Amino acid sequence: MNNVKKQKLKVKKDSASRVKRKGNTKGTGLGLQKSLKKLKKKAWKVFSIWVRKSNANFNGYVACCSCGDQYLWNSGEIHAGHWIHDKLDYDERNVHPQCYKCNLKFNWKKATTGYAIFMARKYGVDEMDKLRKEAYLKGNNYSIQELEEIIKKYEC
Ligand SMILES: [Zn+2]
Repeated sequence: MNNVKKQKLKVKKDSASRVKRKGNTKGTGLGLQKSLKKLKKKAWKVFSIWVRKSNANFNGYVACCSCGDQYLWNSGEIHAGHWIHDKLDYDERNVHPQCYKCNLKFNWKKATTGYAIFMARKYGVDEMDKLRKEAYLKGNNYSIQELEEIIKKYEC
């Protein structure tokens, strides 16, 4: 009995030190975090392109949801801007084309008021309330599976 326990302990210790030695983080919590971070980055890249591109007109111009100024979707002057920040990063209702000036709040009042009017017109206040609740509950907690599905859905 004691021998079995000792063996088990030894195995555990060995695999732990192997991970450390080789720097192999696959299958450990750290490895999972790393791949989640990578997936989040890729999902954001794919989704933000989709947000700008899918809202562009036939000339490739897209309007800022806050101020209405138009820019080429891939000019770098138009971002994928959040309604509720740091939450629901991959939710179509929470992210819209927004010019860099409004996204970086050069004119805070114009940017936020404009976005609020845009949201109210597009979704209505009930949906805005629903979104706020969802944002509170979900935050930015996306699973690997969810992120992979997002990438698949929005990759163009
Ligand atoms: Zn703007």
